[in-house]
This record gives sequence, structure tokens and C-alpha cells, in this order.
Amino acid sequence: MRDSNHRVERILILGGTAEARTIARNLAHTQPDAIVITSLAGRLTESPELPGTLHIGGFGGLEGLMDFLRLGKITRVIDATHPFAATISAHAGLACAELEIPLEHVNRPMWRKHPGDRWRWADSMEMAARIASRFRRVFLTIGSQELAPFMRYGGPFYLVRMIEAPKRRLGFRDHRLVLGRGPLVVDEELELMRDFAIDLVVTKASGGSATEAKIAAARKLGIPVLLVKRPA
Ligand code: NAP
Repeated sequence: MRDSNHRVERILILGGTAEARTIARNLAHTQPDAIVITSLAGRLTESPELPGTLHIGGFGGLEGLMDFLRLGKITRVIDATHPFAATISAHAGLACAELEIPLEHVNRPMWRKHPGDRWRWADSMEMAARIASRFRRVFLTIGSQELAPFMRYGGPFYLVRMIEAPKRRLGFRDHRLVLGRGPLVVDEELELMRDFAIDLVVTKASGGSATEAKIAAARKLGIPVLLVKRPA
């Protein structure tokens, strides 16, 4: 789409989520003339197939993002990042305000609590690790970046799920690694939790449909779920 001055829109999607991928694919249909760039933190070795251009890796802090927006003549930013990616969202807010670039934020709704859900809340990963250490067989579905607090507690067996295998051996005393990413399926989550006799699921309070199956499976099995609160 062109604005009143016939300028081509140059859209930056801050991505790394299913929502960002959907937006990029939709824009290719709804605004075929727009230049669309999706940026990823670059934590995974594989990048998704997306229309438009990919920018992989950070921008170099707030200043770097501002330079990128200026030099790239970006006319619109869509923040479709993960609810826990607070730094990049804060940078986007500050940069867009300073440069007067319209910013849209994609809000991912939190899961709704249903009867039978046994939810507990933790304010931080450290608190979650402390609580989890009192259980025997813990399913850690918190990604790969914040496992260290859990490794400090030797007690439980940890079933650790990641999208990609880590480059180095994980420092748990007793663990098993499973690979997987959303969209997840309830039956498979049930099987996994049963097979490993899980007695606690630990997750970020990320919300969204792609990973909700673990919540539903835990409810069916009566397993408590420890939710780490979203950053402010
Ligand atoms: P963050 O704390 O918000 O960002 C840290 C730095 O990573 C940013 O300052 C930026 O580097 C770079 N970055 C993050 N997202 C980016 C994006 N979409 N495009 C370009 N650069 C980006 O986020 P995080 O360290 O990636 O993750 C924090 C939490 O969010 C973790 O719990 C993680 O599991 C969860 N999470 C993040 C993503 C994601 O795509 N970022 C996806 C799923 C889950 P510069 O300062 O150099 O610009």
C-alpha cells in the first residue's frame, strides 16, 4: 500500500513468534507493494521461510535499532515478539516514540484457567526453580535460555523441552532432553507426561494457542502447573 505521498510502506516486524510469521504471510497478500522485514533474535540455527526480508540477530541496543529504523526508512513497526522478550519491546517503544514511527503491539492473550487446573505462580525463574526442587519429576517447558536456576537443584529428574538441541551438554544431575515446538497436540503432551511420570509442569505464562496443549494435558492428568509470571 502507498500512503498519500505515494511512498511505499516499509514495515519492520519484530518477530520470533507464530504471530509474527502469520503477520508476515498476511502482509504479502494484503500489502504486496510493501517492503516487509522480519527481525529475529537469531537464537535458533534454522530460520523460517517467510515472504520479505529477514534480519537475523539484534540491532545493537536502542541506538542500533534507531539507526536501523532511520537508515531503513521504516514507516511502521509491528512488535509481535514473545511476551517475555521485554528488552526488544521496550527498545521498540522508545525508538518509535523518538522517531515518531507508528508502532503496533501484538498482545498474546494469557491462557484461561479452567476447572481442574492446578496452577501455581512464580515471580521469577529462581522462585520457580526453588518450588520445582520439591517435586520428583519436573517437565521444564521454558525454552533454553533460563535453565540455569534449575540446574542448581540436584533433587528432581527434569524432562527438558527445547526447540533445538543445545550445543553443550546440559548441567542437570538427572535429565532427559526432548525436542519440540508449537503447535503442540494434547494427545502427544498426555503421552509424554504419562511416559515420564511427570508430577510438575513448569512453563512461562506465555499464553497463546500454539503451546496451550501442555496446559490441557496437565489438567486432564491432574498435574500441577507452575507458571512464571510475565515481565512487567
Ligand atoms: P529480549 O530480552 O527482549 O532481547 C534481548 C536482545 O535480543 C535484544 O536487546 C535484541 O538485541 C535481541 N532481540 C530479541 N528479540 C529480537 C527480535 N525479534 N529481533 C531482533 N533482535 C531481537 O529477548 P530474548 O533475550 O530473545 O528473550 C527473552 C525471553 O523471551 C526469554 O525467556 C525467551 O525464551 C523468550 N523468547 C524470546 C523470543 C524472541 O524471539 N526474542 C522467542 C521466544 C521466546 P539488540 O539489543 O542487539 O537489538
